[in-house]
Parts: sequence; C-alpha cells; structure tokens
Amino acid sequence: MGGPRILLVEDEMSIAEPFARMLEREGFTPSLAPTVARALELFAAEEPDLVLLDLNLPDGDGRDVAREIRAHSRVPIIMLTARGTETDRVVGLEIGADDYVVKPFSAAEVIARIRAVLRRTAEPAPQDEPDEVEPLEIDELRIDRAARRVFLGGAEVELSRKEYDLLVELASHAGIVISRDDLMARVWDVNWFGSTKTLDVHIGWLRRKLGDDAANPRWIETVRGVGFRFADGQGEAP
Ligand code: CA
Repeated sequence: MGGPRILLVEDEMSIAEPFARMLEREGFTPSLAPTVARALELFAAEEPDLVLLDLNLPDGDGRDVAREIRAHSRVPIIMLTARGTETDRVVGLEIGADDYVVKPFSAAEVIARIRAVLRRTAEPAPQDEPDEVEPLEIDELRIDRAARRVFLGGAEVELSRKEYDLLVELASHAGIVISRDDLMARVWDVNWFGSTKTLDVHIGWLRRKLGDDAANPRWIETVRGVGFRFADGQGEAP
C-alpha cells in the first residue's frame, strides 16, 4: 500500500473500524488510534499525511492531541466532532485544525474532505508557479510568498496556514472587491459546505494580527453584502 497515510484517532470502534476499511478501499493507508496516548505514539512513528481527530477520547481531549501535533508539525488535521456548537468548531480551527466534520457524518463526505484538504495543503513546487513566489508589498506590509512569511513594518506577523492563505488571496487582489463566495472557494474549498461564519472568524483573527480596525480599516474593508477589499496602498494622501 502506498496511498496517503491517514491517522484515524477515534475510540468508537463501531465508527472507526468500518471507516478504516473504507479508507483502505479508497486507496489510503489508514492506521487507528483509540486513545490520546496511542495517537501521539503512532503520530511519531508513522508520520501520517493527514490526521482525522475525534474530540472525546477515553484518556483525554482530542484538542490536546492537535496542540501537541501542531507544536512540531503542519500536517493537515480534520476534527471529527459530535459537539455541534460554533464555539467548539472555532476552538478546533483556532488550535490549528484545517477542517472539521460534525458527527454523524457519511464516509463519502469525510473522504471528499480528506481529498480536498490534501489537495490544498500540497505545496506547489516554486518552479511550477514562478510568479507566485514574488513577494507582495503594499506599503509597510510585505508577504514573502516563497517562505510563506509576513512582515508588517519589519516585524514578523505569525499567521496560521488559513490566515496566511486568506491574506494572500486578499492582498494579491488589492483594491478590488472579492466576494465571500470566491474567498470561501479559493481559501477553503469549492465543495465547502460549512458555515460562512468560518470566514468571518478568520477575517477577525487576521485583522487582529494586522492591528486593523473593522470600523476604520487600514487593511481589510468589509463591503457589505458582497465581500472584502484589501487596501492597495493607493489611498489618498492625508
Ligand atoms: Ca469519542
């Protein structure tokens, strides 16, 4: 078996076992961890390409697994959550999960998400897209796309992967309005069918990290009913 390695962290065997077999049939190489301890052990041993992570585990919380993994890896994480509240989803995304699905889910749905996340996170070789690696500069903001690093007035701004992708999407279209639908499709996935609240949450985090004020924006302007427009540095002189 040579397909992408998927670490499935799930203690309910009635879900985990049939789902692992389904992953195998779909060409993935699954491994199964029913506890936090086993998840961290397998993660270190197998270096999976993607982690599917249940939140309620017998020996702890799936979010602790995510934090531990994020401390030294950017591997994509999809959270499997039975908790349907917005807060739990937001916390999941905040600690670095790339996506989440709410139980009960269909295997087909999760497999579509896995494929989408793997496609998004596969970093293109720089020589494939030469004009993508040019730094983007708008006034005191500098986005080094080759290194995926962002500087504001010379100081580095630490962004999550999603915040970074969102910033690049906005800044590379500076001065023009991008619709919410286009942002969702380009930064998340065309097949995304989650709440667009996710977009607002990420815009909020990005604004905070850029020191921006939604009411009087320097960088990200909300265009009501349409989407967002990034400052192009061509604003009128004071
Ligand atoms: Ca569970």
